[in-house]
Amino acid sequence: MFKKVLVANRGEIALRVIRACRELGIQTVAVYSEADRESLHVRFADDDVCIGPAPARESYLRIPRLIAAAEITGADAIHPGYGFLAENAEFAETCVASNITFIGPTAHQIRTMGDKAEARRTMTNVGVPIVPGTPGPVDDPEVALEFAKGIGFPVIIKAAAGGGGKGMRVAKDAEDFIRSFGLARSEALSAFGNGEVYVEKYLAKPRHIEFQILGDQHGNVIHLGERDCSIQRRHQKLIEEAPSPAMTPELRAAMGDAAVKGAKAIDYVGAGTIEMLLDEDGSFYFMEMNTRIQVEHPVTEMLTGVDLVKEQIRVAAGEPLSVTSTPALRGHVIECRINAEDPRRGFQPSPGRIEVFHPPGGPGVRLDTHAYAGYTVPPYYDSLIAKLIVQGNNREEALRRMHMALESFIIEGITTTTGFLAKVIEHPQFREGNFDTKFLERELQGILKEPN
Ligand code: ADP
Repeated sequence: MFKKVLVANRGEIALRVIRACRELGIQTVAVYSEADRESLHVRFADDDVCIGPAPARESYLRIPRLIAAAEITGADAIHPGYGFLAENAEFAETCVASNITFIGPTAHQIRTMGDKAEARRTMTNVGVPIVPGTPGPVDDPEVALEFAKGIGFPVIIKAAAGGGGKGMRVAKDAEDFIRSFGLARSEALSAFGNGEVYVEKYLAKPRHIEFQILGDQHGNVIHLGERDCSIQRRHQKLIEEAPSPAMTPELRAAMGDAAVKGAKAIDYVGAGTIEMLLDEDGSFYFMEMNTRIQVEHPVTEMLTGVDLVKEQIRVAAGEPLSVTSTPALRGHVIECRINAEDPRRGFQPSPGRIEVFHPPGGPGVRLDTHAYAGYTVPPYYDSLIAKLIVQGNNREEALRRMHMALESFIIEGITTTTGFLAKVIEHPQFREGNFDTKFLERELQGILKEPN
């Protein structure tokens, strides 16, 4: 087992990884930018190293500084968390070349799945259904248009290197397509340094359903059930839950089998997620694989009792998975992402000093956060300040528990999304489990108009 793990991240996920290491008896190293000096992860770690100024490209994204920090502190492994360098194949390679274990899949696995067009080819080869679309990237707008006409409008143009809800454009007809195609390509080039795009059918009312995967170096690959992440704003998740209200045991078996088959196709090692779209007619399609721990991983942890971060660490150290088949799913779990944003001002970020911080509690409530009273949310990074996860014996109980927890979560000094999330939880259609990825887009104005 590792002696010392450097956590190449910040915020709640850095704390989460530090906790897992502690439980495993592993020492930890925190890295931080000048803006994160007062962050909790710095205080919780055994060692800490400042890696540069506030902007991420000068600190959290600087590979040589992270490697140097690991070498100076004697860390023998690096956990990347999510975001930043978590899906950067070059980082994984550099760790290995420096004799430091990268807690995650191999650089090759990251590359294969990080290129969405390549990932689609890989899935097709093992018979996993993909959303109908171009077999690979296309660069000629006329060729792409013919394809789009063939599969029928609307279509979505996606950056092969895209991620985080960025680099996607929907085109509703041929005219729209030519304009969007050029824009998508130039956006992809400036955002990801790779202008390759592909085209796929845009489903009208799909659900986003993803399967949690774990694989080890001994050939075991299992899934740990699904998460329904259909509550999104601008393709970014706000609420996740499991089981999906749309799930049946038969569908879970079919989707779960496809997810495991997809992961096995690349001999996947570590924690990963197969994201799929479930169409209204019950067909499902592979969308992408995320080769890292996800923001919403606690949903699966509460539902199954498996500590996914500890499994990641064990697997990276060469140990076999501690669970060898899909565990029993216990009750119902919902997660709300609480952001320092103002919903009434277009979800504009609301950084600043937190004056009052009174977290919710009680049975079945988990709060993953790096925030506290007196903490200043810096303006440089994403606006996630807490993840509130609740479990109930059934969906009804989980919904009530979540509503109560959101209402009793008092944060003053900055504006947060707790009030907005409480209204979504109370929305009749959400309560019925009747929603898709466009739900929030349709209902947003109505929800915002409701009195507090
Ligand atoms: P990213 O890598 O940026 O997260 P994804 O490919 O995972 O992008 O897509 C993010 C979201 O965009 C999905 O959850 C879904 O809401 C929407 N989306 C993506 N592809 C399609 C599609 N073909 N049809 C309808 N919605 C889609």
